[in-house]
Amino acid sequence: MWLFSCFHGKCAYCEQIAPLTGEHVFPRSAYPARMFRWNNLLPVCRNCNSARGEAMPLGLDGAPLLLDPTRDEPLDYLSWYPLTGATMGCPLPGRRERAQATRVAFALRLYDGERLHAAKDLRFLFARVIQESEVSEETKERLRAHLSPSRPWLGIVREMLLKPAQDSDRPLAQAAIAKLPEIQDWVSSWLRPPEWAAQAWPAPIAARAPAPSAGEPTADKERPTSSR
Ligand SMILES: [Zn+2]
Repeated sequence: MWLFSCFHGKCAYCEQIAPLTGEHVFPRSAYPARMFRWNNLLPVCRNCNSARGEAMPLGLDGAPLLLDPTRDEPLDYLSWYPLTGATMGCPLPGRRERAQATRVAFALRLYDGERLHAAKDLRFLFARVIQESEVSEETKERLRAHLSPSRPWLGIVREMLLKPAQDSDRPLAQAAIAKLPEIQDWVSSWLRPPEWAAQAWPAPIAARAPAPSAGEPTADKERPTSSR
């Protein structure tokens, strides 16, 4: 199913690889008219599905609070504490409430340990790249596997590469990438930051646009320019 392949077989919220079900963003009971809309479905694991139940918290303006990973940039709202893997809400006004609602509804704390391991493994492999006089095939293969789009817990890895919460992660990633530039190719399919973030986030890894497929516009300059 196309929707499931977009998330590489992972749960849209907790990122684990597990049997997935179609989660209704707007619950069927309260919003029956949206039941069969494809854009009301997300692939979600059974743990997240049962943790949320039919919860649909709304803000004071009546807008849904739960993040939708197909519309919202997760790093605008959530961060992962680098020493424990715990999710944290962005402290900016208007974002903390949505982050907190999503963390609670989907019980994201259950996978703090797995996220922490993903972060530690990446630091370990980057350090090996830097320390080896010539990067071994074993290290390359382990790092390539760790950065595969089908790997679970890539949210914390994405944060480490785009806007690291731990200062030492930035020079570590930069040094590893300088020595092994293939790393940028391995992450290019899933690491794209939002366009506005290219300036806002001093990412340790350069954002590379994916190769355009036939028939797609290839550059902004080909689009009509605004008169403003
Ligand atoms: Zn899940």
